[in-house]
Amino acid sequence: MAYRRRKPRRSARKIFAFTLGFLGIVSAALLLLIHDMGSSGSHGDGSLLENTARIAAEAQAFMERTPAPSPSPLHSIEPSAAPAATTPEATPAPSLSMASPTPSSASPLPTESPLPIETPMPQESLSHAHSTHSADVASESLEGFPDFSAELPLSEVIDTQYLKLVNRDRAIAVPVSYTRLMTAWPGVPARTTYVTVHETALSAVKALFQAAQSADIGDLFVASGFRGTEEQRTLYYNAADRSYVLPPGHSEHQLGLAVDILIVGHGFSNMAGSPEAAWLAAHAPAFGLILRYPSDKQHITQVAYEPWHFRYVGRIHAWYMQKHKFVLEEYIEYLQHNGGFQAVLDGRRYYVLYQRPENGILFVPEYLLFNVSSANTGGYIVTAWR
Ligand SMILES: [Zn+2]
Repeated sequence: MAYRRRKPRRSARKIFAFTLGFLGIVSAALLLLIHDMGSSGSHGDGSLLENTARIAAEAQAFMERTPAPSPSPLHSIEPSAAPAATTPEATPAPSLSMASPTPSSASPLPTESPLPIETPMPQESLSHAHSTHSADVASESLEGFPDFSAELPLSEVIDTQYLKLVNRDRAIAVPVSYTRLMTAWPGVPARTTYVTVHETALSAVKALFQAAQSADIGDLFVASGFRGTEEQRTLYYNAADRSYVLPPGHSEHQLGLAVDILIVGHGFSNMAGSPEAAWLAAHAPAFGLILRYPSDKQHITQVAYEPWHFRYVGRIHAWYMQKHKFVLEEYIEYLQHNGGFQAVLDGRRYYVLYQRPENGILFVPEYLLFNVSSANTGGYIVTAWR
C-alpha cells in the first residue's frame, strides 16, 4: 500500500504557515537555487492508473470525511464555469474506467470554521479572468480546506509530472518512464504508427477528438507525441526556425504529455486562424489539455504561437488556467505565491496545494484521493479531490 499514511506530525496550519512564510521570505533567492527535486519521486514501474485505481479502492474503503478545517492563507476564487466532461482528475477520458471516489452523501461538508479569506493574488492579475464555458458548476464557497497532515516521503511519491514546468529555462532533469507510453490508438489517425503518447494524455486526446467529431470539426490527428532526447536533438539542430523548437531536454514532448494536433490534409502552417484551431483551444481544457503556446504569451513561454501544441495538465488545472488565462509558467508562479486554491468542478471538489518538501516530506490529506506532480521549481503540487 504505497500511500499508507504515516502518523501526522504537523498540522496543516504549520504547513501553510511554513509554505507561505518560506516562500515569502526567500522566494527571490530560491528562484536562483531552483533545482529539480522531482527525480526522487519518479517511478518507472507499474501503471499509475493501476496504482491510482488501487489507491482509489483503498481510499474508498476508508473514505470518511474528517472535518478538520484549519486556518489557511489559501486564496479562494469563485469558479463561474466548468468544462463539460464529468470524469475525475486522473481519468480525463470517459473511455477509461477506474475506481473513483464516491463523494459521500453521508459526509456533509463542514460548515464551521470558514477559512479566513485573504487576497494574496494581485487583483489586476485576476481581473482579466474569463472562461469560455457556460457555467455548470456549483458556486465556490469556503468550507474548509482539508487537513494536509499525512506525511508522504518523496521516495514514495509517484510523480505524475502533469504540472511539471518544462521550457527553455527548465530542463527535464529526470529520464521519463517509457512504461506509460501508448501507441496512438486504432481509429485515430497519426502521422506514423510510431507516435506514442503518455496513456493519460492519450485518453484525453481521444476524448477530445470524439468531442470534435460530434461538433463537426474537421478530422484531426496526432502529428507528434512523445520524443526521445535524440529525436528532440535532431529536430532542434535541424530546425530552420528555433522559435518553435526547444533544445533537447527542454521539450514537453519528452514527457510524453504533449501532442501536436493537426487537421488531416493540412500542415502546421495553415493551422493558425482555422476554425479547428479555435475550437481546440476553447475545448481542450475540458479534457485536461491546454494550448501551451498561445499567441499572446510568447514573451512568457519563449515559444512562438503553436495552435497545434497541447499539453496535458489535468482537468482542474486546465480549467483554472483557462479561467484565468494563465499559461503554465504563470499558473505555477500563481500557485507558488498563493499556496493553492479549492474549486468545485462538475460536482467534485478539488483542493490544490503547492508545497516545498520539508526534510523530504510532503503533506497530503489523510482521507482524500490525490495525485502529486513536481513543478520543476523545487516544489510539488498536490491535487486532492472528493
Ligand atoms: Zn509540440
